[in-house]
Amino acid sequence: MPASTAPASLSPPVVRFAPSPTGELHIGGARTALFNFLFARHHGGTFLLRIEDTDRARSTGAAIGAILDGLAWLGLEPDRPVVFQSERQARHAEVAHALLAQGGAYRCYLTAAEIEAARARQLAEGRSARLESPWRDRTDGPEDRPFAIRLRAPRDGETVVEDAVQGRIVFPNADLDDFVLLRSDGTPTYMLAVVVDDHDMGVTHVIRGDDHLPNTPRQLALIRALGWPVPTYAHLPMIHGADGTKLSKRHGAVGVAAYRDELGILPEALENHLLRLGWAHGDTEILSREEAIRLFDLGGVGRSPARFDLKKLESLNAHYLRAADDARLAALVAGRLEAGPGASLGADARRILLRSMAELKTRARNLNQLAESARPLLGPRPISMDAGAARLLDGRGREILGRARAVLEEVEPFERAGLEAAARALAGELGVGLGEVAGPIRAALTGTTASPSVFWILEILGRDEGLGRLQDAIGTMESTA
Ligand code: GLU
Repeated sequence: MPASTAPASLSPPVVRFAPSPTGELHIGGARTALFNFLFARHHGGTFLLRIEDTDRARSTGAAIGAILDGLAWLGLEPDRPVVFQSERQARHAEVAHALLAQGGAYRCYLTAAEIEAARARQLAEGRSARLESPWRDRTDGPEDRPFAIRLRAPRDGETVVEDAVQGRIVFPNADLDDFVLLRSDGTPTYMLAVVVDDHDMGVTHVIRGDDHLPNTPRQLALIRALGWPVPTYAHLPMIHGADGTKLSKRHGAVGVAAYRDELGILPEALENHLLRLGWAHGDTEILSREEAIRLFDLGGVGRSPARFDLKKLESLNAHYLRAADDARLAALVAGRLEAGPGASLGADARRILLRSMAELKTRARNLNQLAESARPLLGPRPISMDAGAARLLDGRGREILGRARAVLEEVEPFERAGLEAAARALAGELGVGLGEVAGPIRAALTGTTASPSVFWILEILGRDEGLGRLQDAIGTMESTA
């Protein structure tokens, strides 16, 4: 009978995201975390986070911070406290020794040089480079020499993985090596740590990138040697860039933080795009988290690589910007505008910012565009003019502005439609186009020559601020009351 993975248990699943903290949280890792999270939520199960920091030389505190921060931003926090693999080394060693005592593993005294020589010999004889340690069958090891603990891996038959995404995959056991569980310095290997931690955390489904597929038969061999229940595996297809090659820095940012900080993407937009990377529900592009939880299952994950597409992400982002709460957007934009040195926003600017969001958010594809479109509205008075705006306020423009200010002051309520009607009436009276009235107003309000409707801007600024800016540009001492 070939060894195969067991059917999924009926109790609620337990899944984990298990990143190695050697850099920032990447798009691929975030997608793995999301799929684990949605799977857990869909089935009423538990989503766990394990930081695989056993490689002390490559793991950094900054990377751990970046992973936790990125997951929190995406709203993918684990249901229980984070497990740090490095804190579990004693347990890993204990399991290796227990397996040794049962005969499922053996003491191997080969030195690094002997291993090299054995590999070279095997290759020269035309055999595979899979190490065959003489210590597998020897019991006369020297007690006083350091030894590694190796798995006594099966050599006959095959290991079948019924992968929930990739389908049935058969691995001949002849390819399995007696891999090291515990190094001669007493430290556990990655292969041992993963298996022990998944078991101890009660993980029922291992959902991870398909770069881990080759590890699976080895991990299964260890699980079987230990007599532990076998989890269900689901290996997710790789992520490609829009050009169909493996996603890399060449395609732009690969770290989640860059999408937040540099590209101005909302977390729900990134989540929606990540969801569609390899998973589909018909042609539906836009799915809220609630819908995703309701619909997500491993059966909807395809086998072919998914494409990360910045254009698609930005169009999703435009959708989520329109749907977002104005106060939330105003706070995000304020944060971006204030990021520059000495650029703090006063109470008036904050009020204007908040009032402008409902309109401006309908035109932006990212938070940078949203911030740039708000910037000219925010003052402070007197507004600094660019050259084009200054030209519009020369001579005739200034004269028109004086007339415009007088008619606009009479408008009540101080709202877009009434303000525009008053300006139109004035243009008619002066025998000019509306643009000749609106241009100087725009220049006075924003210091620029391009902006959304000036009447909308006046309404957003409010009577005092709006008329005040016109007054500043006219430069007379008339009262604005
Ligand atoms: N720590 C591994 C990684 O970051 C994942 C291990 C696993 O999911 O089994 O690639």
